[in-house]
Amino acid sequence: MVMLQGVKYMTDFEAKKAILDIGKRMYDKGFVAANDGNISCKTGPNTIWTTPTGVSKGFMTQDMLVKMDLEGKVLMGKLKPSSEVKMHLRVYKENPELQAVTHAHPPVATSFAIAGISLDSAILTEAVMGLGSIPVAKYATPGTQEVPDSIAPFVNSHNGVLLANHGALTWGKDIYQAFYRLESIEYYATILMYTGNVIGRQNVLSCSQVSKLLDIRKKLGVTSGGIPPCAACETNNRDIVTSDDVRPAEPVELMRIGASKPDEELPPLKGVTPIVKPKDELMTEVVRRVIEELRQEETGWN
Ligand SMILES: [Zn+2]
Repeated sequence: MVMLQGVKYMTDFEAKKAILDIGKRMYDKGFVAANDGNISCKTGPNTIWTTPTGVSKGFMTQDMLVKMDLEGKVLMGKLKPSSEVKMHLRVYKENPELQAVTHAHPPVATSFAIAGISLDSAILTEAVMGLGSIPVAKYATPGTQEVPDSIAPFVNSHNGVLLANHGALTWGKDIYQAFYRLESIEYYATILMYTGNVIGRQNVLSCSQVSKLLDIRKKLGVTSGGIPPCAACETNNRDIVTSDDVRPAEPVELMRIGASKPDEELPPLKGVTPIVKPKDELMTEVVRRVIEELRQEETGWN
């Protein structure tokens, strides 16, 4: 590491080594196919090392990497930088404290990006603490100025963004944080898909549970990241020992942290289990089950 103008940066050697290492991991994890994806890392207030165009991120060597200034001028390297480096440069311009950017097309997160669905459900404690919510930036033609313009509004408020019909982009205070956020986005998207579309049921964290996670996030020094809507009532405050303990799925009302009542604009989430139910509803449920049981006995089903 080297100290420049009071800020720690990776040296050229460290940055290039880290880019190769992360490129290989990105490729091995299936986050990119063929020559997709790009990575950049700052080595000073106005310089970055980045990946070239037309090369698989799994098979890069140091001599393929490109050094640029933040205006986009190539300073070193025999290959051309990716045309997508424009969005990296925009991230650094929007927030000079960020030191690395990663971009890939991880399949589950990219599927959400194609569906135009943000990763915005309070269902996974680690995701609430480490990522927050991940919005979908509006569609932009790859390689054009539209792409940096589409992501700019989210750089200071979020930790990453999905690019509509394209992929995922993350940033961080160092290259590892940027890459871990990319990994976390794919993991979060996978859990959202399994619970929402395979199991078909999600117990959303309540607003008080989310508030506590946000306190932890602050203590961890993470000051950015969106806040997903939370359940107006607790959905997970008792032990579930057998499948009989699972209440029937009903829509649960969602609200924003700090709001006094459920948000009318947020559609209630279907397929979730509100644990706190009015007493008469519970009684109806018990009576329904008893009658069902008796009927089964009568017809000799058991
Ligand atoms: Zn891409």
